[in-house]
Amino acid sequence: MMDPCIFSGFPLDPADHLRGDEAWLAAQLACDSSRFLRYYHGRPLMDISDGLRPADGPCDVGENDWVFMGLDGDVAIFAVGLRVKPDLPDYEKFIDLRSIALQLGASGFSNIPSLLGRGKMLLEWNGRRDFCSCCGHKTRVERGGYVRKCINDDCGAEHFPRTDPVVIMLVTSGDQCLLGRGVGWPEGNYSALAGFMEPGETIEEATRREVLEESGIRVGDVRYVKSQPWPFPSSLMIGVRAEALSTEITIDPVELADARWFERAYLREVFESGGGSDFRIPPNIAIARHLLEEWLRMG
Ligand SMILES: [Zn+2]
Repeated sequence: MMDPCIFSGFPLDPADHLRGDEAWLAAQLACDSSRFLRYYHGRPLMDISDGLRPADGPCDVGENDWVFMGLDGDVAIFAVGLRVKPDLPDYEKFIDLRSIALQLGASGFSNIPSLLGRGKMLLEWNGRRDFCSCCGHKTRVERGGYVRKCINDDCGAEHFPRTDPVVIMLVTSGDQCLLGRGVGWPEGNYSALAGFMEPGETIEEATRREVLEESGIRVGDVRYVKSQPWPFPSSLMIGVRAEALSTEITIDPVELADARWFERAYLREVFESGGGSDFRIPPNIAIARHLLEEWLRMG
């Protein structure tokens, strides 16, 4: 099995069968043993006293937004978006999720970013759905935060959390792979090309379109490799390998500052030595790095 990406590996029982039970949810919100992941402006509250772990203590939810995350054994876990920043002890801090993932992922796989990422995505989605996008009336929370239902009886629309699929592709041609540097990125920061899928596209079609638009390269075979939830704000990265049918690069200057073919032997050397002068290895939390490492292992 391939190594999992950071932000995958949700560690709780999602307990779907309990989400619709409002009496049970109310009892769990008031229960002393329930635990609460707290967020302020999308940043999870972390306990920094010994390494880095979520500060998942008790919480009076009150008027704050909350979602039911699932069960850890028989303990209910909630995520709460605090409206007001609380006073914190020295050992607790709100930390940007990217930074948490980079730190926790530095020494191998951790499922904490998955837990915190799902909470962030659900809280942010709920925060943007106070009003029905069909008729403009208020919505109310159902199923522990997984549904918003319009309170207007004539409408009654149900809204569900969205996930925006992004294809990210390692384009290869024999022993070379195509990497691009986005506009505004530092020199040496090359990564796999990527782009949002459009309505009605297959993964293969989206891959061929994106690569052609950004680099002028035509792509044939597309093979799925792996995927990664990406909670900034709510994407799913779909990682593929794509075979180039042409090699002459014409970049789209709106998207890319540069795109190049990199030799497998050169990249392998860079990965072994930890960094090269004109190529910086993508961070450990990036699926692009996984795509590259798996391709390097193949040849
Ligand atoms: Zn409505």
